[in-house]
Amino acid sequence: MEIACLDLEGVLVPEIWIAFADATGIPELRATTRDIPDYDQLMRQRLALLDQHGLGLREIQDVIATLAPLPGAAEFLHWLRERFQVLILSDTFYEFAQPLMRQLGFPALLCHRLEVDAGGRVVGYRLRQSNPKRQAVLALQTLYYRTIAAGDSYNDTTMLAQADAGILFQAPANVVAEFPQFPAVATYDELKRAFIAASQRELAL
Ligand SMILES: [Mg+2]
Repeated sequence: MEIACLDLEGVLVPEIWIAFADATGIPELRATTRDIPDYDQLMRQRLALLDQHGLGLREIQDVIATLAPLPGAAEFLHWLRERFQVLILSDTFYEFAQPLMRQLGFPALLCHRLEVDAGGRVVGYRLRQSNPKRQAVLALQTLYYRTIAAGDSYNDTTMLAQADAGILFQAPANVVAEFPQFPAVATYDELKRAFIAASQRELAL
């Protein structure tokens, strides 16, 4: 049996923090795991910036409500779900993901939770577990699933390495250069072909 694991931001939906940075005009909030590989360091920087600018969960959710999946993402996901069981493994938060997941038909999603006080201030975050994407793939392998994973960034690379096959999708040049062992593709058509190539089953476009 095979299962497909997908990153969310940068693969199916826009980078939420970048969208929020653009909407609020706070350029420092544009940093993502593409820029700062240490997720805890990145999140502490984000929460400090939110505090500094007096912004809370409501303001972030208002921006997310205006976002749509990347062009072609919903069609790609539909294609993938016809051929594989699909699990989205993301470093986003359930508090952010809901409106975007609705537009994608609510595929299974494992991600983190924010800690928000009564006034809506984001006071912290709770990681599902450490190295969550890799651990999820590892768990699927204990169920004897062969896994094919795709992601775009540093926080995906341990997942891609643990998976039986890993694919980079629209990854920045530095990630592609650092991880030449993974095929790197740029369009959903190429990503479909990469999944077909990685599968041990006879699949067609
Ligand atoms: Mg990503």
